Amino acid sequence: MALRLFNTLSGTVEEFRPRVDGEVRMYACGPTVYDYGHIGNFRTFVAIDILRRYLRQSGYRVLHVMNITDVDDKIIRNSAKAGLSVDQYTARYQKAFLEDAAALHIEQPRIVRATENIPSMAEFIRRLAEKEFAYRTEDGSYYFRIARFPSYGKLSKKDFAGMEDGARVDVDEYEKDNARDFALWKAPKPGEAFWESSIGPGRPGWHIECSVMSMQELGDSFDLHAGGEDLIFPHHENEIAQSEALTEKPFVRFWFHARFLLVEGEKMAKSTGNFFTLRDLVLKGNRPSSIRYLLASVPYRHQLNFTFEGLQQATASVERLRNFRLRLSGRFPAGSAPAMQDLARETSGRLRDALDDDLNTAQAQAAMFDMVRAANAAIDSGNLNQEDVPPLLATLTQFDEIFSVLEDDDGARMQQVVGWAREEGKEKDVSAELLRIVGSAALSDGEIERKVAEMTAARNARNFAASDAIRAELNAQGILIEQTKQGIRWRRG
Ligand code: AMP
Ligand code: ZN
Repeated sequence: MALRLFNTLSGTVEEFRPRVDGEVRMYACGPTVYDYGHIGNFRTFVAIDILRRYLRQSGYRVLHVMNITDVDDKIIRNSAKAGLSVDQYTARYQKAFLEDAAALHIEQPRIVRATENIPSMAEFIRRLAEKEFAYRTEDGSYYFRIARFPSYGKLSKKDFAGMEDGARVDVDEYEKDNARDFALWKAPKPGEAFWESSIGPGRPGWHIECSVMSMQELGDSFDLHAGGEDLIFPHHENEIAQSEALTEKPFVRFWFHARFLLVEGEKMAKSTGNFFTLRDLVLKGNRPSSIRYLLASVPYRHQLNFTFEGLQQATASVERLRNFRLRLSGRFPAGSAPAMQDLARETSGRLRDALDDDLNTAQAQAAMFDMVRAANAAIDSGNLNQEDVPPLLATLTQFDEIFSVLEDDDGARMQQVVGWAREEGKEKDVSAELLRIVGSAALSDGEIERKVAEMTAARNARNFAASDAIRAELNAQGILIEQTKQGIRWRRG
């Protein structure tokens, strides 16, 4: 099978094929950095990360570009209010976003920033004006004339028949279904930041940013464009209009949109108290790996209902996977069992089939757990042999190349949030659970191994008081000790 993806533009699931064999050029709309990223944002970014990782696993070279929107209405307004420059205002949120994304094992795409590309945006607008797709208003702003672009609405499947020529909207985000000429360039307002450019002073609109930077990096026509479902209209519809008006070529082949995340069945809202940034959850003692696993557990085209119960289950799932890998590091009788070899091979096929099927992550996770259950049962009954270990491990690795939860770096990532909370005067928000997990991360693997060796030596010398004291010391730091037939094993609790 080959990868099949839902394409918002065609409205159907299609076989994915890039323009150039073996190479995928994709662009994702990145964050607007006026605040900390919430878990809804990260649902979308994790979905895109899974797409990227699976494309690579399928043998493609992936050129993945993401913008950071570091100038827009809200940023301009908020920075003016705070008495800061745009750069000063956005710097902390950019940094936080990159740290949060890294904590969630989101591989970093090539990043482009709006404020670093303003001259090319002005130039793009000038050329649109030359072709009469853009016009200038008296104050020096520029608008896109949608009446001149008849296929406007083809992505969002909205019918804009009878659109009013010349009716304008000048905010970046608007919900109205009726089409309006949208701002490409906004003339400066008193007290607000602006840039000098070839089309006069002002600042770019949000939509033009993505058209300009994506084409600059990936060419006039490229393979994939991704974002959350709220971006279909107007943002992506406007990107298509701007780009295709200028180049007269198809802009993007596949449009990939992740559905929204809800919290406990409701839209996230600060007023209802169910609004969570990633940092809010970490402060409560939740691990980034659990959050990633949960965000990836629902296929991207389904709404994801985030619950704390679901988060606990995700934690248990990740622990099970990590324990399974630990178990496989034991010693087993020589030889191999055909049933285990088949299990590893079949599971590998199921993983591919699930992800080929429009990235069905839920099916992939289910396939993995079937394997873990069967292999654990075989270990328990003495039916796993040493030569069965490599294929089982290879399948586990195949899974983890996509889901990326086996490496336990939670403690170190969480430590970073503790540091941030201290700097920001939010120390009271640091939960005891967070401190407990960070405590266990304070010991390196090597230090733990040394303590475990001391403990074993004390036991062998029948000095139980000493060995119990070491065990208690490790437990207090969140390290769990297990006595097994193969000797002492430890893990971070
Ligand atoms: P923003 O920083 O608002 O531009 O959003 C960054 C990304 O997060 C965009 O792709 C949005 O579509 C996406 N997004 C925003 N809210 C949610 C949500 N509740 N669930 C899923 N994705 C979201
Ligand atoms: Zn965009």
